[in-house]
Amino acid sequence: MAKLEEYRSIVGGEIIDELYLLAQKLKGISIQNINSTSFGGGVAEILGRIVPLLQELGVDVWWDVIKGDENFFAITKRIHNSLHGANIILSRREKDYFLSVNRQNGARLSRWGDIVFIHDPQPVALIEEKARLKNKWIWRCHIDFSAPQPDTWLFLRRFIIRYDSSVFSAPAFARRLKIPQILISPSIDPLSEKNCPLEDSYIDSVLCRYGIDKKRPLITQVSRFDYLKDPLGVIKAYRLVKKYTDCQLVLAGGAAGDDPEGEKILAAVQEEARQDRDIFVLNLPPDSHREINALQRASTLILQKSLREGFGLTVTEALWKKKPVIASCVGGIPLQIAHKYSGILTYTIEGTAYWIKQLLHEPAYAQRLGRNGYAHIKNNFLITRHIQDYLLLFLSLSNTNDTVYL
Ligand code: UDP
Repeated sequence: MAKLEEYRSIVGGEIIDELYLLAQKLKGISIQNINSTSFGGGVAEILGRIVPLLQELGVDVWWDVIKGDENFFAITKRIHNSLHGANIILSRREKDYFLSVNRQNGARLSRWGDIVFIHDPQPVALIEEKARLKNKWIWRCHIDFSAPQPDTWLFLRRFIIRYDSSVFSAPAFARRLKIPQILISPSIDPLSEKNCPLEDSYIDSVLCRYGIDKKRPLITQVSRFDYLKDPLGVIKAYRLVKKYTDCQLVLAGGAAGDDPEGEKILAAVQEEARQDRDIFVLNLPPDSHREINALQRASTLILQKSLREGFGLTVTEALWKKKPVIASCVGGIPLQIAHKYSGILTYTIEGTAYWIKQLLHEPAYAQRLGRNGYAHIKNNFLITRHIQDYLLLFLSLSNTNDTVYL
């Protein structure tokens, strides 16, 4: 794990000094993160990097994961899909079960922070503990909240309004709420295994392992196998291109501990790709960070054809590697890509196919998009900015009377 000092050469020394200053002001205040999985997906990715760096800054911070059975995670996945617009109405029994598992977790957790930082809807009902603990609570929403199913929203809202503050990833997700809503974009860690520079020989070895031809164009989407990431739409777009332009497609993904639908979607993708030797469906173990890094770096183009998206860290990761990215104009993606400047934003399968063809035929333009994207990520979406935002948020909720001067 990289040490904070190593970030000075990337983001500048002043930013690191500021982090130490802010962290000092948090002395004596403990921060507890709670989410629903330790691996798979963006939330686990971010917490796995931010928590150790906050600890290095001297903050008393830790990360707990709630426990649940198959039934609980089937319900939370239904909540997730309905918040993303699917017409799913939870039954009374499902809501009761959701609540009872949250209560069991509330009873099981032995240590509570002065500030409890809850990530996403799965543990949202732990807020019931607040009345007893009399501490501060933040609800951090990482998902696309632009058009939630109204009944699910109302169900969650009654918990959310008891929090002291809420955090969203993009302005489009703001809701009508009486509690403060804060915009904090996620980030990537430039020194993590997922994003650090790699030797060419290692990148070649990864391509060789999967039988991918390094001489022919390679289009890649990295995502959990989830219908909201539209892997079947990606295959359709690839097929439209393939009629005219030679290319290969990688769909790299894996499971997440709190996503029970992955296997079904993976099977559908494998079935669709079966006849085509130029489509590589890679079901990777959760610790494949270096491999994903290599696949991203080996790619000619990166796609993120999501139907809904919280922020889209895979876009951030690709732009950091100066890759041209074609991504759907949803969720936090437009915060990362200015169309035709730092990437391409699309709405349809046909639009995606059109731009794949264009960029494959105009490599100099494609490279310029990647370079502009890199500069934007460097200025806005690195982990040090994210840590600074979180420290300021914690300070604003802590009971110290000190004013924070930067
Ligand atoms: N990821 C991974 N393995 C996979 C699929 C995804 O490590 O098989 C990582 C990916 O590199 C990114 C994160 O999981 O860091 C996905 O975050 P994103 O915001 O793109 O989507 P989410 O899965 O949170 O909806």
